[in-house]
Amino acid sequence: MKNTRMCIACRIKLDKLKLIKLVKNKNNVIEIDKDKIKPGRGAYLCNNAQCISKGTESICLQKAFKCKIDDENCKTIRNELVRNL
Ligand SMILES: [Zn+2]
Repeated sequence: MKNTRMCIACRIKLDKLKLIKLVKNKNNVIEIDKDKIKPGRGAYLCNNAQCISKGTESICLQKAFKCKIDDENCKTIRNELVRNL
């Protein structure tokens, strides 16, 4: 199925509409792409506490985006996702 994406935390493939999309902007800052329309490299996460917790660890995000990511950036993303659970 072409609309499935893999969660970077649990590696299960799901319909991308059910996943949270993260994107990296041109300043190497990760953002939550709520409308899933931002350009650039994306990474996907299940919308549950376990995957949010694991998937927003810097090591996990750095692997997904293949670049150095600030710890503060990871925390900001995590807090926002947890708040919206
Ligand atoms: Zn997951």
